[in-house]
Amino acid sequence: MSLQPARTRIAPSPTGHMHLGTARTALYCYLLAKQTGGQFILRIEDTDQKRTVPGAEQEIMDGLRWLGLQYDEGPDVGGAYGPYRQTERRELYQRRAQTLVDSGHAYPCFCSPERLDEVRKEQMKRKENPRYDGTCRNLDPAEAARRVAAGEAHTIRFKVPQEGVTIARDHLRGEIVTENKQLNDQVILKTDGLPTYHLAAMVDDHEMKITHVLRGAEWLGTFPLHVNIIRAFGWDEPVWIHLSVFLKPSGKGKMSKREAAEALKDGHSIFVKDLQELGFLREGVLNWSALMGWGVAEDEVMSIEQMIERFSIDSLTPSPAAINFQKLDHFNATHIRLLPADDLAARVKPYFVRQGLVVDDAKLLKIIPLIRERLTTLDDCVAFGGFFFQDSVSPTREDLIAKNLDAQRSLEIAQKAYQILEALPVVNHESGETPFREYVESSGYNAGQVFGVLRVAVTGQKVSPPLFESMEIIGRDVYLRRVAQAIELLK
Ligand code: GLU
Repeated sequence: MSLQPARTRIAPSPTGHMHLGTARTALYCYLLAKQTGGQFILRIEDTDQKRTVPGAEQEIMDGLRWLGLQYDEGPDVGGAYGPYRQTERRELYQRRAQTLVDSGHAYPCFCSPERLDEVRKEQMKRKENPRYDGTCRNLDPAEAARRVAAGEAHTIRFKVPQEGVTIARDHLRGEIVTENKQLNDQVILKTDGLPTYHLAAMVDDHEMKITHVLRGAEWLGTFPLHVNIIRAFGWDEPVWIHLSVFLKPSGKGKMSKREAAEALKDGHSIFVKDLQELGFLREGVLNWSALMGWGVAEDEVMSIEQMIERFSIDSLTPSPAAINFQKLDHFNATHIRLLPADDLAARVKPYFVRQGLVVDDAKLLKIIPLIRERLTTLDDCVAFGGFFFQDSVSPTREDLIAKNLDAQRSLEIAQKAYQILEALPVVNHESGETPFREYVESSGYNAGQVFGVLRVAVTGQKVSPPLFESMEIIGRDVYLRRVAQAIELLK
């Protein structure tokens, strides 16, 4: 355990739905901060305004709260290092970019988008990697400053070293050595005066005193650029941790939009909001995503407290993780069984309500032990237990007809069942089992047939929680009425 309190941050761009990858990065950041008594920060990276999607920022904040990963500093909670939204920090980046220009580490670039496009096309034709051709790098700085002062449209580019190598250190991968001639003079400040990620994230991580940068492995490509920027400022570097990428279930490549849509049809998703709506628990989602990239036993069931205790950046793995939704189901079902009954009741309630059912809390609490073992996701509660809250059920005539019997015989069973039930002041497991077993014995019908007719009549479904316990909860009037309705249907 590190003694130094870590300051970590999740820095999503509000450009779409909150992805599983963001949730996992946030989780690791949170674990490290909590374990060391540090802080976990939310920073909104909204400088690419063309890609900003209304509502996306809110979805991130809601998603983190739903996951229980409450940040200590952020746009809506404040903090000593704000603002936490990059568009509100633009002067800071402009100042910092100017510092780099003044120290000779950056330069204004006046090339038009059309010209850059031409250059790119030529390079592609020659099968070269597209990169800036350096035209403005060689301008006389005094001349460049005059053009800037005259109001000419320009960007600021970072001047990467042209010789030698850049050595960048990733905590999971060790030293990464890159030939500087492979690097590109990237734009760090755009014509609209807003920074690109390369500048904004480096400046903010420094200003916000971030000690550990956890981010996706897709940033490895520009990692050498980033360390060059930090070194040009003369700042200390954070510990860099590039997290493994997620692959689609087959392990071959990233999940496409089409595959994501397929997964959704199957009750799974790579988006946090969907997972919540589909009835996954935060505990299940966190446990599952934690293990994609963290080298502990694959089936380790852990609460958030246990994760805080056990987490270590040394046991993170750089190898890509294939998304496995069966494991998500497994972890979710496991965590459902670990929840106290009243907590589980509170969590399933919205799923009943969403179906238009009126839920009685006392009744719900009684149902929990009957349905808990059957739930993979919270919304399964409706399929198994919706009949508890319905005024009436509507089984089909076919469903009421028992296996290998006809309507006439099934009717006979329903009528007999009614007689037995009517004679009993209360039905529960003890009082119900004996007379019905006797009836099975004497009638020659098998138990599956007798209980099958009764189950469909009372619950409207072929699979249900234990029958007599369920009847005890729904009450005498209701089950008698339902059996009577089944009799009418079978006639
Ligand atoms: N805004 C970047 C993204 O969404 C953040 C990367 C980082 O964590 O530095 O990918």
